[in-house]
Amino acid sequence: MEAVVTDTFFPEKFADRTETVRTQNNLSPIVEHHGGPTRAYGALRSNGPIHGMNIDRRALMPDDVAIDILYCGVCHSDIHMIRGEWGEQPFPMVPGHEFVGRVSAVGEAVTRFSPGDFAGVGCMVDSCCACDSCKAGLEQYCIKDTTLTYASPDPRGPGQTYGGYAERIVVRDRFVVKIPDGADLASTAPLLCSGITTFSPMQHWRLGSGQRFAVIGLGGLGHMALKLAVHRGAEATVFTTSEDKAKDAYAMGAKDVVVWHPAATDPIPLVGEMTNRFDFMLSTIPFPFDIAPFLQLLRLDGIFVNVGAPGAIAGVSGGALWGKRRSIAGSCIGGMPETQDVVDYCCANGIRPQIEVILPDQIDDAYLRVERKSVRYRFVIDLASHRAG
Ligand code: NAP
Ligand code: ZN
Repeated sequence: MEAVVTDTFFPEKFADRTETVRTQNNLSPIVEHHGGPTRAYGALRSNGPIHGMNIDRRALMPDDVAIDILYCGVCHSDIHMIRGEWGEQPFPMVPGHEFVGRVSAVGEAVTRFSPGDFAGVGCMVDSCCACDSCKAGLEQYCIKDTTLTYASPDPRGPGQTYGGYAERIVVRDRFVVKIPDGADLASTAPLLCSGITTFSPMQHWRLGSGQRFAVIGLGGLGHMALKLAVHRGAEATVFTTSEDKAKDAYAMGAKDVVVWHPAATDPIPLVGEMTNRFDFMLSTIPFPFDIAPFLQLLRLDGIFVNVGAPGAIAGVSGGALWGKRRSIAGSCIGGMPETQDVVDYCCANGIRPQIEVILPDQIDDAYLRVERKSVRYRFVIDLASHRAG
């Protein structure tokens, strides 16, 4: 199993400087199909730098859509995966699970897309499509298996999936969403992960007008949560560790901003004043933290939803839950119908992520800036400009 990689990001040098590198494990044949060579950006090993590399996308099946990718967002999940923070992963890895592009070809059974359409892809590219979850449009909870956009075994091919830090991709049509006419393409890309991941729990638990909402962590997901909650008429509070984000949070519609200090003995200042206050708290923190101080801020029947760190949740006490009939829950991205809904809803209502557009050779630096909490608020990789020029 071989991957053709290069140490340069510049296509014109690519032919001269390629080298053939064997993959680091048995999981990841990078070149297997012959759907077309594609320039991609990924890591050869865990915690390795992002390289330019060539991959081959599979040939089109009857229900597939081929997409020329234009913009792909950088999610903190990409960083967890590249860094090995979520356990052993298959390498080489091409991350990227929130992207938009233009349809270049469709299989003969595809009716929803035509070449030239704008299309988006999120965190999933396949599922069994037949279980109760899939039939309900909840493919992310497929009872058999959901195929993630990258680093998943590919049911349509012999290897693993490779994501959206690439110039082209082939995706089963059910897992492709339509991008409305006139949408700003770069700022639509993050809706495919950060948008849907925050929209879905608000839909499920019916966050509505007049409710008191809090988001913990104002990053890629968090700032989308804030914008969505404000648009729904909720009264939104932001808990941030970054004092300099307060001004932005107010500009995005927050009513209150609380700067909290995770390592302090009393992490939340004036916590007593907020006890029993919130209907809905959403955590987007990428690492496990003690939620005990936050639980007491939930009012009767309030819910704390974690979409951040997948690890153990510390600080959950039975008493804190039954004292006010509080709940803790988690939520995973969103199903395909709801992903189309969030894209349509945000485009129709002018709800846009705040983005910083970068080129592929800036991805390593972008990761460091996400980890330092300095991105405002989502990096989006421009995969089109050098192709066009
Ligand atoms: P992000 O842009 O890095 O935002 C996370 C924010 O959390 C940071 O901006 C920072 O906000 C705060 N934060 C970071 N480290 C912290 C720490 N050690 N202690 C306390 N606060 C901290 O990340 P993201 O892309 O929004 O993703 C957030 C998490 O959601 C990641 O773990 C990602 O893997 C996960 N995720 C889950 C799903 C799902 O389906 N459930 C989908 C996508 C992503 P402040 O500066 O405001 O404190
Ligand atoms: Zn993501």
